[in-house]
This record gives sequence, structure tokens and C-alpha cells, in this order.
Amino acid sequence: MTEGAARRAQGYCGRFAPSPSGPLHRGNLRTALLSWLEARLHGGLWLLRIDDLDTPRIQAGAEAAILADLAWLGLSWDGPVVRQSERRGLYASVLSALRRGGVLYPCQCSRRMLADVSAPHGALAIYPGFCRDRDLGWGGQQGRLPSWRLRLEPGPLQWTERWGVPGRLEAASGVGDVVLRRADGFLAYHLATAVDELSLGISDVLRGADLWASTAAQVAVMQQLGQGPPRYGHLPLWCDATGLRFSKRSGAEGLEAYRQRGFDAAAVVGELASSAGLVPQQARLSVQELCQQLTIAVFQQAMVDGLKAVDGPQAVDGPKA
Ligand code: GLU
Repeated sequence: MTEGAARRAQGYCGRFAPSPSGPLHRGNLRTALLSWLEARLHGGLWLLRIDDLDTPRIQAGAEAAILADLAWLGLSWDGPVVRQSERRGLYASVLSALRRGGVLYPCQCSRRMLADVSAPHGALAIYPGFCRDRDLGWGGQQGRLPSWRLRLEPGPLQWTERWGVPGRLEAASGVGDVVLRRADGFLAYHLATAVDELSLGISDVLRGADLWASTAAQVAVMQQLGQGPPRYGHLPLWCDATGLRFSKRSGAEGLEAYRQRGFDAAAVVGELASSAGLVPQQARLSVQELCQQLTIAVFQQAMVDGLKAVDGPQAVDGPKA
């Protein structure tokens, strides 16, 4: 953590953090391009982190395909690939320290029970705190292990949004106590991500607006670890002509489909960059040419304009448990 803080102080360090649950779709490819571009325009570092803790969601071959896609586009990352699955020891020791510090509590509420008690079409499912003050043990009960939750103090969780309105969610009403270790024993995404942003020295995160609400939970963990969060830039999700956002689940096309349509890397880079307002439509250029053509000021303005075009944080999902 101390090393991470020292690294952050040295200047821009960004990252792209895909989950290997399938091939990158065009929205992911654009996020990768924009975060690479921002890092390079700052003369900073760009790390590649594979978020592979949730093993049941991992698709065989997806990581290799992600690496190959980034390389095909010309997006080179700094240092070795960081895999969350190889850092479980670090996350577990942070978790134990938090538990010793008395900020976690065991929770026996099941997802199904919480779904039953939440509003039928409720916006965000905020944990109502049923187990907060119960005297439950950390061991299993009736064959079920508890999840471990971080107790959040009431008050705002705030962070910097580089191009939009400052990020802010109320801990009690907008976030709720965060699961850091799931009942199935898996270390939670919020824990790993918060630890990684700090320990890797990430200064700036650029990612999709679907992760906007998750930021509050991650900021809460970072606060417990005694450090401030990176700066964030949550970009509107890229939607198809019908307004539906591209996602792995919707089967949105990735590079393979582009190639089948006869696109080479220059044409794909042109399409991704023009969709973000950085170059005219039909542009053809390499990522290096794109970087040479732009300045950081032009890049920032395009991000601001892109956000203005949508009304507030778009497609804000509830915090991922
Ligand atoms: N791996 C997660 C995803 O692909 C999180 C990425 C992030 O924090 O940027 O949705």
C-alpha cells in the first residue's frame, strides 16, 4: 500500500480491468482505447488487470482472447498482466486486518431473503442492516457460512469525477454495508478492486457508467485502508441504434465480427475513436497516430461533451455485491 501511494504520487497511472467472462465487446474495446489514450497523452502508465476472482463466471480462453484483441489494436500495457486470482493472499490479509479492526460483521442474510424484502421494482437494493447488531459467530450456521460485511458510518461517500458532476452517495441510504467476503467464500470484487487501486498506485480510473454506483463501495473500503481514492471518469455506455447498451450478455459484437466485415485495425480504431467524438467518422488510423493527433485538452473536452450528451450518470447499476 505504501509503495502504491508512492507510485501514485509520481504521476498518471491508469488501468483497464476486464473480467474474463467472454470476449470484449465494442463498448469494452472503446473503454480500453480511451483509457490507454488518456494514459499515453499524460505520458503515464497503463496497466492491464484481469478481474478473475469470480471463477464460475470465467470463460475458458477469454483472457487469451482479451490480450490478443488489445495487441491487435496496438494497445500495449506496462509491466506484467496483473491477475486478481494471483493476489488472493494480499486481499485475504487486508480482510483479516479489517476484521481484527472491528469494522466487519458476519451476515447470515441470503440473497433470496434480501430480494424478498426489497421493494418489488426497487431502484438500488440497499442492505437494511438486519445482521448489524446481531451477535452471530463467524462460523457456519446450519451448514451456511456468513458473508462478511463492512459496517459503513452514515454520511456521504464522495469522489472526483474528472468530466462530470462530482460523485457522491449517502452511505446509509445509497450504498449500505458492503459484502467483502461472500457467503460462498469468494473475496468480493469491491475488496479486490479497492486494494488494487491503492496497491498498484492507480491515479485515474476510466470506466463505464455502469460502475458509477460501485465506486461508493470501493471508496468506503479505501477509506478504511486510510487512503483517498483515485480520480474517476465514468463514461456513458455505448448504445446501439435502439438505445440498448452493448454488453457481453446482449451478444454485442467484438473484434471478430469487425474483422468478418472486412475491418482492419485502423478502421476499428477509427470507428471507436469517432464514436467518442475524437476523430471524424470513417477515419482510419493507428492508435499511435491517434495519440499524435490529439492533445490532452482535446481529449478531455471530448469526454466532457460525451457526458453532456446524456443526462447525468447513465444506466447506473446498484453496487455489485
Ligand atoms: N472487471 C469489472 C468489469 O469488467 C470492473 C472493471 C473496473 O473496475 O474497471 O466490469
